[in-house]
Amino acid sequence: MIQYYSSRDSSRYLVSFEDALLKGLAPDGGLYLPDSIPKIDPQSWKTSHSLADLGKKVLHAWLKDEIPQAALNSIVEDALNFPCPLVKLSDDLWVLELFHGPTLSFKDFGARTMARLMQYFLKKRQEQRIILVATSGDTGSAVADGFAGQDNIEVVLLYPKGKVSKVQERQLIVSRPGVRSFAVEGNFDDCQRMVKEAFLDPDLSHLPLSSANSINIGRLLPQSLYYLWAITQLMPQAPAPVRGVTQDDYPVNICVPSGNLGNLTGGILAALSGQKVNRFIAAHNANHFFPDYLQAEVQAFDFHKTIATVSNAMDVGSPSNFERLYHLLADDVLKSWIWGTSIDDQSTFKRIKKSYEAFGYVACPHTAVGLEGVVRYRQATGDTSPVISLACAHPAKFPEAITHALNIETPKEEALELLWQKDTNVISLEPELESLKRQL
Ligand SMILES: *Cc1c(COP(=O)(O)O)cnc(C)c1O
Repeated sequence: MIQYYSSRDSSRYLVSFEDALLKGLAPDGGLYLPDSIPKIDPQSWKTSHSLADLGKKVLHAWLKDEIPQAALNSIVEDALNFPCPLVKLSDDLWVLELFHGPTLSFKDFGARTMARLMQYFLKKRQEQRIILVATSGDTGSAVADGFAGQDNIEVVLLYPKGKVSKVQERQLIVSRPGVRSFAVEGNFDDCQRMVKEAFLDPDLSHLPLSSANSINIGRLLPQSLYYLWAITQLMPQAPAPVRGVTQDDYPVNICVPSGNLGNLTGGILAALSGQKVNRFIAAHNANHFFPDYLQAEVQAFDFHKTIATVSNAMDVGSPSNFERLYHLLADDVLKSWIWGTSIDDQSTFKRIKKSYEAFGYVACPHTAVGLEGVVRYRQATGDTSPVISLACAHPAKFPEAITHALNIETPKEEALELLWQKDTNVISLEPELESLKRQL
């Protein structure tokens, strides 16, 4: 049975997946790590005909001792019910589009799967949870949407009023069963502080409060699936000379636009469970802690303040999943396997333009950071191996940035257009714990 231990516990006290999922953060403040990683036979996942099909096989290898296959199958089918296409830009560059879920970012994979896994265990235990989230971007809407309508679970969402984009706000406040949204008259830090205080407040200790942030292991496992799915789709599309050869002869690099490093950690888990990856490229925006660490000769943990950028879902000064990556792989392995770079807003806008000119492809700012990272990696290393770059959000979520870069109207996206016709439900809150307490 695969069990989980805290990154801060040298004695390696082990808990089940169920406990790690429902706790989120370990009691000592550490992040849960698996004590072993299942080796998944490539023949089994490479013959999958859909992401959900692949997900059932791979998650079964992780969870077979805690969730029967039939129950897991319905969780996965229900969660991963949207496409995840690999789109060819040129003979050596592909993008894996992770934005076809309901809230149009890759956060849907983790949030939807995690919500259904939690519901499964809570029903079994006959317990309830109230998920409290502070959000400034894609996580909140993915969590609200992923958890909406799940039995035994309610969601309370806090976001800073007027500090998120119009599209993002709309995604946060549309009415959803079991979800309450609060617009806090303050900034993101106020929202986070209120959530933290609520968890510690004795008056609220009778409530089954829980969190759903990106450090939960229940979000990372599903984020490993699309890496395997990318390779499954790549081989039939590979250029003629390599088509038909095994992947062993066709080393692939994968570029991950990164912020809190949860997406990249999913990729590392996929690779450790059996997918060949030549190199990972970690493309960060101006928040450059991780690229700095990768380039440093010695261990350096020089965390930074968060800098605001146009790729705002990656604005993380001190990525919390770094602690997990650092325990998963030795320092020298991390530094040789992952190549990192930091890309400023000006280069991001330029890359949106160049990708549009070269391939007719409209990339969101996060995706563009990745595509610029690919170019820099090739220049710096001379490695011309094929690259799959992850496309993390739909460009229609960032109309201002696209218009700024391309001088065109962003292509419309039906799911976003529909948002404007739906009912909304939001309550304004003073940035004080007392006002949140009254609501809870
Ligand atoms: C969350 C997010 C990222 C960053 O992913 P991490 O797992 O935090 O590294 C990148 N792009 C988009 C669109 C996101 O929503």
